Amino acid sequence: MNVLVINCGSSSLKYQVIDSETEKVKAKGLCERIGIDGRFAYQPAGGEKEESEKPMPTHNEAVAYVIEALTNEKTGVLKSLDEIDCVGHRIVHGGVNLTHSYVVTEEIIKEIEDCSDLAPLHNPAHILGIRACQKLMPSTPMAVVFDTAFQQTMPEKAYLYAIPYKFYEEDKVRKYGAHGTSHMFVSQRALELMGNPAHSKIIVCHLGNGASISCEIDGKCQENSMGLTPLDGLVMGTRCGDIDPSVVEFLCKKRGYSVEEVLRIFNKESGVLAVSGGMSDFRDLADAASKGNDRAQLALDMFAYRAAKYIGSYVAAMNGVDTICFTAGIGENNGMIRGMICDYLTFLGLELDDEANKVVGDEKLISTPESKVAVYVIPTNEELAIARETVALLK
Ligand code: ADP
Repeated sequence: MNVLVINCGSSSLKYQVIDSETEKVKAKGLCERIGIDGRFAYQPAGGEKEESEKPMPTHNEAVAYVIEALTNEKTGVLKSLDEIDCVGHRIVHGGVNLTHSYVVTEEIIKEIEDCSDLAPLHNPAHILGIRACQKLMPSTPMAVVFDTAFQQTMPEKAYLYAIPYKFYEEDKVRKYGAHGTSHMFVSQRALELMGNPAHSKIIVCHLGNGASISCEIDGKCQENSMGLTPLDGLVMGTRCGDIDPSVVEFLCKKRGYSVEEVLRIFNKESGVLAVSGGMSDFRDLADAASKGNDRAQLALDMFAYRAAKYIGSYVAAMNGVDTICFTAGIGENNGMIRGMICDYLTFLGLELDDEANKVVGDEKLISTPESKVAVYVIPTNEELAIARETVALLK
């Protein structure tokens, strides 16, 4: 089956066509600046990337260009629209009710709309993408895969905040976690690599510009470091992660900020960017630190320290750990950070294989045979996870 995977933002649309039998990407690309001037990119597997400016007043035009490129006589990978067997849409937030993947129906779209206040930048855009696909492919079956679904197995004691219960009951304020599709993909792959043992305890570190850590018992998510929103948890590229909420009021009073301004600073001007004094990319940070920039080094130290603290707390939450996995831009590519984090964890009997830990971007066991905890680098693949879910659901 050919699965078209769509990841829609308010002004962008990422797409991939995946052959579900071979799990290979046939083509991929990106529509950007939707509603502004429109930029289109398309790349067939093994072929040249094509980029062009195309007018895209709405998501409808974007989807139309995607179909046109995929079925283009010269460079297309499909003969006609009929060869798209199904469409899988990534959805950021499913609230408390949407707990797994679903076939798209009007009721499901309404539910996605209903939890838009939990992801105001994302959910409305996802619906635009669904509608555009429905318009151009009215008889193609579609599924929605939620970033929050994998975390729905978290126990109440993990996802509730210790604030008045009515805020949970009436306003749905709780921990939802994030990057669920990635945590699902990587933990399932880790289980396979471990030989699917019973009572497995896994920790997944999704370390990218946005970063989160999760833990799974028997493949079921128990915890995720993100909270109601993706601001919580780790120190990130530009986000502060854990912070005493009183800092908000303190800064508002002291500096005359509005709550919105403080939250914008916490989201966009904090994290390693703020600590280092201007760098959010970990390649720049590593480079600067190696040249003696103390603030860059401090940012790296804080990032690794916070990540190690989360791992330690999840080891306690699960009363043990068998396997720790690293994924996403930093987790897959940055051996130095993996090493810095694992240095805190030798008390677990964890022993990193320094040579194996040099791996960049490939799946690899990076702990020694003697290590009491297996450590893997497992490249994440959210699109493939969405394609698998879509096919499983529609079959
Ligand atoms: P997001 O998807 O949250 O925007 P990514 O998962 O792409 O983020 O991660 C971005 C981070 O990954 C950057 O800090 C970047 O430095 C790091 N990164 C990406 N590729 C490499 C690489 N080859 N070597 C080292 N770090 C890398």
